Amino acid sequence: MLIAQDPHHQLVNASQAGRQIPYICPGCQGPVRLKRGSVMTAHFAHFQGSDCQVFSEGETHEHVTGKQQLAAWFAASGYSVQLEAGLTVLHQRPDLLVQTDVTPPLAIEFQCSPLSVTRLAARTQGYWRHGYQVLWILGQPYQRKLRSTSKALKFLQYHPHWGVHLLFWQVETASLQLIHHILTLDAEPLTYQRWSLKSARQPVAAFQQFQPIVSNPTPPEEHLEHYHRQLLLARLRHQHAFDDLQRYCYQRGGTIAQLPDWTIPRVPELPLLTVPYLVWYGHVFGQLRQEPTVITHERLQALLWTELLPLLARQACLRDQGTLHRQLLLAVTTRLDQQHVIQRRRRDWTLNQAALKWERPKF
Ligand SMILES: [Zn+2]
Repeated sequence: MLIAQDPHHQLVNASQAGRQIPYICPGCQGPVRLKRGSVMTAHFAHFQGSDCQVFSEGETHEHVTGKQQLAAWFAASGYSVQLEAGLTVLHQRPDLLVQTDVTPPLAIEFQCSPLSVTRLAARTQGYWRHGYQVLWILGQPYQRKLRSTSKALKFLQYHPHWGVHLLFWQVETASLQLIHHILTLDAEPLTYQRWSLKSARQPVAAFQQFQPIVSNPTPPEEHLEHYHRQLLLARLRHQHAFDDLQRYCYQRGGTIAQLPDWTIPRVPELPLLTVPYLVWYGHVFGQLRQEPTVITHERLQALLWTELLPLLARQACLRDQGTLHRQLLLAVTTRLDQQHVIQRRRRDWTLNQAALKWERPKF
């Protein structure tokens, strides 16, 4: 922890603390000692055997340093900043609390340790319920190459200018990294754009006002072949999602290899599903086959949504999930239209039966 209470009940930052003064933990009121050396960032620690529930011990060098750096950056940018402020109504203690005149207070969490999605959701919703905004900034343990299975993805946040994004803080350079417009295309690595900012050179406003030029990633030329190879491999390896899809296909008289080409994702999509997009499109294929030739727009949307819902990953930090889900439905509707699976007929859609047949196996 960076802040402790002195005998006069004043909160003191470890960087300004006196060595001979007895300090106590603002969380549990237990005694703490000052740790300050030439390498370590100054901080307070409980004595051995403390059972403090508020500050977990083993706070890493990265965590205390990052908190101090972030606080300094926001303060230098003109904000009023409180480190480790105890928010009693919430029973939460954000790493940083940033106050502004115009927007709701902002809680900043610099997360360097593992956190379950359940805890993450509880903490995030606690802030939202009480009118705080919250920003999750991730430390080193999360900064490995971003993959569709990365633990970092549960921290996905949304911003109109940055799309689905993640924030990282690098302690060595005191810099912020924004990984924005994160997209996924089945069988290909995640795509994203990266922007970083050194806190020593630019104020917080530069980050808040950042508007990237969005470059639309294009799938590789050989995507379809690549995809078929990946599908074959996935089936050989009995990957759960593909086994389920294969079963779904069997029950309807076909196989994965006989799914029509339009079910194979060709453009990068939002990384919001727990399974490949093929699973969703495969199910849409299966369900549309059972529909009459003409269906209403509402019926189509309900069908797409029903098939999507069980496949959505649990997201703890996405406040505008409804907007994103509508984006997904709109994208798949447009796709079905462009691939001539459905055709507009005033307010209704006509289904193209030719696109709803099992094809000859492709692999
Ligand atoms: Zn304590």
